[in-house]
Formats: sequence, C-alpha cells, structure tokens
Amino acid sequence: MDLQQSVATIKGVGPKKLEKLNSLNIETVEDLLFYFPRTYEDRTTFLNLKDVQGEVKASFKVRVTGVNRNSYIRRNMHILSFDVEDETGKGTMTFFNQPFLKNSIKIGGIYNVYGKAVRERFITKISSPIAERAGENLKTGGIIPKYALKKGVTNNEIVKLIRKVNVSLPEVLPDYLIKKYALLSRNIAVKTMHFPDDLETLEKARKRLAFEELFLLQFALLTLKDNNRSEKSIKLQDNPKLKNFMDNLPFKLTEGQDKSLNEIINDLKSEKRMNRLLQGDVGSGKTIVAVIAMYFAYINGYQSTLMAPTEILAQQHYESVCELFKDENINVGLLTSSVSKKEREEILAKVRSGEIQMLIGTHSLINDEVVFKNLALTITDEQHRFGVKQRNTLQDKNQLANTLVMTATPIPRTLSLVLYGDLDISVIDTMPPGRKEIKTYGINTKMIDRALNFIKTEIEKGRQAYIICPLIDESEYMESLNSVIKTYENLKDKYFHEDVKLLHGQMKSEEKEEILNDFRDNKVKVIVSTTVIEVGINVPNATVMMVLNSERFGLAQLHQLRGRVGRGEHQSYCILHNGSSSVKSWERTKVMEKSSDGFFIANEDLRLRGPGEIFGTRQHGIPELTVSDFSTDYNILSHANIEASDIISGKVKISAGEHNKIVEEIYNRFKNTFILSHVN
Ligand code: ADP
Ligand code: MG
Repeated sequence: MDLQQSVATIKGVGPKKLEKLNSLNIETVEDLLFYFPRTYEDRTTFLNLKDVQGEVKASFKVRVTGVNRNSYIRRNMHILSFDVEDETGKGTMTFFNQPFLKNSIKIGGIYNVYGKAVRERFITKISSPIAERAGENLKTGGIIPKYALKKGVTNNEIVKLIRKVNVSLPEVLPDYLIKKYALLSRNIAVKTMHFPDDLETLEKARKRLAFEELFLLQFALLTLKDNNRSEKSIKLQDNPKLKNFMDNLPFKLTEGQDKSLNEIINDLKSEKRMNRLLQGDVGSGKTIVAVIAMYFAYINGYQSTLMAPTEILAQQHYESVCELFKDENINVGLLTSSVSKKEREEILAKVRSGEIQMLIGTHSLINDEVVFKNLALTITDEQHRFGVKQRNTLQDKNQLANTLVMTATPIPRTLSLVLYGDLDISVIDTMPPGRKEIKTYGINTKMIDRALNFIKTEIEKGRQAYIICPLIDESEYMESLNSVIKTYENLKDKYFHEDVKLLHGQMKSEEKEEILNDFRDNKVKVIVSTTVIEVGINVPNATVMMVLNSERFGLAQLHQLRGRVGRGEHQSYCILHNGSSSVKSWERTKVMEKSSDGFFIANEDLRLRGPGEIFGTRQHGIPELTVSDFSTDYNILSHANIEASDIISGKVKISAGEHNKIVEEIYNRFKNTFILSHVN
C-alpha cells in the first residue's frame, strides 16, 4: 500500500463512498491517516454487572440469555429487551426503535456493550447501549475515536477503513529533534491518534504531531522571510521634501506612528527588500504612515500602490490621499472593478508610462494587466482580509518593490509568530490624542426598542448611527440577506423613515458609493448594513454603533466595528445586542463593555472561543492546523520556532536528505497556502 494511492483502492470503498470521503477532503490513503478524530470517548472501563452503583456509563462483557420483550408500547415506540448475564450477576439491555436488532443479536452470544446502566433489585439495567460481538473492538472496550462526519459516512466506517490501512509512515523530522524532545515516531504517533491505548500516550502522540505541524509551518514562514531578506530592492534616498511635508501635516504624529514610520523609511533606504507588517489598533492612524511612505517613494521618482479589501475603502483612501496632496502635483489613480472599461484602459496606460505615481485600488490591482513603470512600494491595507498568497502575488508584480502590509486585527503575540512569521513587524501602540472612550452596553432582545429610541435622540442632536446585522454563513447567504433586508424595512417603517438606508455586499458599487457619500454628507442618518462597513470607514459624526445578534461575531470583529465610531469630538456609543442567553456569550459581551484594548480583547477571544474559530485561519491565509492549538501549545510553538530558525540560519546543519524531506512535506501540506516556489 502506498500513501498517495486513492482511498478507492481500499476494499469496500465504492464510487458512492468515495464521493462522500472526498467531500471530507479524504482522497488518498495519506489523507485518511491524517483525518484525525475530533474527540474521543473513553470506554476502557469494564464493570461487572454486580458492581454498578448509582447511574454509570461503562463497558460490560455479557452473555445474552434470552429476549424478555419485543413489542410496541405505543405507535412509534418499539422496545427490544434482552436478558444478559456475566459471572457476577444478571441484567437486561434495552433498545428503543431498533427492532432489527432482534435478528443480529444472538441468544448465547458474548457481547461487549457500552452504555448507561443502573442496578435495581439485583438486576443491572443497561439502556440503549452500543453493542458488538466480543473481540470486534470497533465500538467498545477502548478509547473510541469520534470523527467529524457527513451524511453517508459513519464513524464505524472510518474506523474500519483506517484499520485496513497497512503502511508505515516515513519520518519527516530530523533525527536529532526526535531525540532531543523524546518524540514518538511519526508512524506510531499517527496510529495512536486513531487508536490510543490510554490517554497519556494519546497526548504524547498529539504533542509529537503538533510539534511537527508547527515546525513545518515555522520552517515555511521563516524560509519565506529569509528569501525576502536576501532579495535586493530599489533603494530610496533621503530628501528634505519629506521633512517639509511632515511639518505641514494637519497634526503631529504620535510616538508609535513616528517609530513605525522610521522603521519603514529605514527599510526603504536600505537595498534589502522591505517585507514589513504595520500593526495598530483601529483608529491608531496607520493610513497616514502608509501615505507618507508613498510620498517618500514619489519624491524619489518612484511609483507606489495601495491595495484595500473593499471598494468603499479604496474609494475613501483615494479621496483622502487626493485631499492630502492637493497642493502637490501628484497623479493619483483609482482602480477597482467598477471603473468603466475605457477608464480602466486609460489608467493602465498611465500606470505603464509612469504618469500615475500612486495607484490605489482593490484586488483588481493583482491583475496581470496592471504593469508599473517603476514601482518601489506596494502596500496592502487590512492585510487579514487577504491571504498570504494574494499578498505574495501583488509583491511579485515587481521583484524590486518593497512591501508593507497593514492590519488592525490585534494579534496576541503567541499568534503573530505563526501568522506573520515571514514578516518584520512594526507596531503603533499609541492612539492619537483626544480620543474619547466609547461607552459600550450589552442589551438583550427586550431592550432593542429602548436602544432604537436612544438612536433617535442622537439623530435629533444631529448625530448618525450604524446598525449592523450578521450574515450568517455562505450556505444560507440568501436567507440571511433577506433577514437583513427585513430588519431594514422594519426599522424604516417603525423608527427612522427616510433617514435610514440599507447597505450590503450584493449592491452595485455606484449604489453603495452614493449611500456612503450621502452618509458622509449627513443626508442619510442611519445605515443598516452587513459587515461590509467593518473596515476603514471614517465618518466622525457617527456616534452610535449598534450590532444585532452580536453573539454571532468574533470579539476582534466587534472591536473593528466599534472602531467606526468615536472618531470625532462627540461622545460615542456601542450597543451590542445579544440574542443568546448562554453564559459564555454574555461573558464575551462583558469583555467588550469593559475593555477598549484590541490586544486584550483578542486574547480574551482566544481564551473564550479557542483559536480554531478566530484564526481558523483561512481568512489569514494560514492553513487550518489539525492537531495544534495555539492557546495551549505555545511552548511547542516557541520550540518549533527556535529549531526551525536554527536550521535556516545555518546554526544547526542537517543533511540534504533531511532538508528535502522537510521541504517535501511542507509542499504536501501547505500547497494551497503559500506560493511554494518561495519555499525551497
Ligand atoms: P486606522 O489605523 O484604523 O486605519 P486611520 O488611519 O483611519 O486609522 O486614522 C484614524 C483617524 O485618526 C483619521 O481620521 C486620521 O486622520 C486621524 N489621525 C491619524 N493620526 C493622527 C494623529 N497623529 N493625530 C490626530 N489624528 C490622527
Ligand atoms: Mg485603516
């Protein structure tokens, strides 16, 4: 048997089953082996029938001595009950609505059963147990793996398939690491994940695979970083115009902005290619830092480009850049999917000729037709909305261009290692002066009416508000979009009449733009929207952010949304409606009420929801990790980081063969995540 052969070659897998397995992303034997259980049920404890006290869940080994009941007690409720015994006593086992078991459970047969049991009047009664012939050991007697399933594939089937796999997995980690950390071999670890003898060995297996996973990821990211390091870039020169421009800014940069800008300018002045992440909480003022860097490229005679995740944001950046440079002779272009074909041709020609010096846009910028004359700097705003792959594509447009990516998603330090291991990091850790605390309140459904009336009084004072509704998920996209539309109509009828407008991702961009312009001009007072306005929108007169069913959002996302208000001189409010009564969801609401610190919030989110959900991690373009868990495996992560960087820096030498194995495995696992020509 070969790891890369199709699961279809395993006996018992027909075309139908194959399709189902494929839908679980299981295509090869290797995929199957790496389809680890989601959880386990410990069924190792066997009890004697006599020893049951109170109600227990346990395994028993019993002989079936007869049927004591096989009948309907009412329509739709069938009872099948067997008499059983073991050396210590007597009992019954009862099944509901499984009349067919009458034929498969044999009188006189020995069965392992696992289920809930109580002992009453010297009889142990086991109800709705899982039963199988003793010796079969698929469902009882051990630590039973529980796999994530889809209709058409049962847990048992996966167990059986994995049992049929007969391969020995080759090692991918260098020998000295296995020894140093006393790791289980890869082969044993993978098998133990499916069929652990005890919980202790299971944890050892998981740790071994977590180390492997994090080591490979770190190795990939650090290799990217290292490659970038050795790349040359356009080298910019100091120029007195820069200081002159900064002296004339409408405000003084904060300490954090100053420090970050210096790091960026230093990178631009060196011939090494910049590959830097600029991180700063919502409202910390990343844009101006980016724009100054673009200006620095301009006065050196080079082009620069800024990519935003949405049209609205690109438009807004375009407007503020034009405003900032209105006294300079700079040609700024805006390229999004909604510019007309003719306009687009014109822009592309001017970008090619160098006439446009700054180009702002959406992911339209990635298109092959966009060719620069002399690009020195590419900037990606709200980087977390793009994947590593997209980022690399933009950066590949010009091998000599420096790269800056920006994000407002505060990342706990634990995670920045993982997510941005390939980048240098600058952090804006100060806020512009004069920001007022945004008052945040959690409310339940009964209080919505009061909150809406509060919004009305704010509007009477001349202020504006956002009301955000969740779009549940893609599979129910239309349905949830309809519910947003309904909410809007309801609010329009009952509360805000002509003052309210609806905004969502499916609308035409001109329509969206018009609404946002009207909102900016205070002609529209309330915007009901999905999270399309999550990033970047800047309307200082808006003072209320209300989020309906906020329990459906991540805290980091709520923090972003809240960052849309509190941008002007007026006291601002964030109202978080919580439609759930679960303790956890109110705990999350409390976190928002109590803190305005993005990093604290991100850490709490990590604690309350686990990393899978927040960084789960597709939106960062990082592969879904299968065994490691950032919140508990930080130690493993830092060891993996150290070991990977020791190898990459050459501090530790490994053989070419060992190196190849690592690179091959990285390719195998992360091919959808990175542009892998970068890792070799
Ligand atoms: P973000 O980091 O969330 O992208 P922005 O760049 O949109 O934040 O900045 C938020 C607001 O703060 C903008 O209106 C910007 O003009 C203003 N701002 C930025 N830096 C400063 C500063 N040093 N002093 C005062 N206001 C500033
Ligand atoms: Mg921004």
